Amino acid sequence: MPISNETKETIINWLNQKCGVIRCFCCGHQKAWNLEGAAMTINLDLDSFRIHYADGIPQITICCPNCGYIMNFNPLVMGIKPTNIDEHNIS
Ligand SMILES: [Zn+2]
Repeated sequence: MPISNETKETIINWLNQKCGVIRCFCCGHQKAWNLEGAAMTINLDLDSFRIHYADGIPQITICCPNCGYIMNFNPLVMGIKPTNIDEHNIS
């Protein structure tokens, strides 16, 4: 699920407030992390290829712009939750 620019701003503000400057655990890069490809992921049932919105822990994925290392955060802790759930297959 793509993330809106408004939500990206929320993520950036949350990261700055809670984590300060984040240094990449892999390469040590510490400039701005790339939120262009950031997405909210949820559980995918590999048997039915249906998304389970109510199961598991959703994740906000951000990527180091230098080496590609990925960090995941729980959006519920950030105060972010999925929207427009009714538009998707819910199981
Ligand atoms: Zn890196």
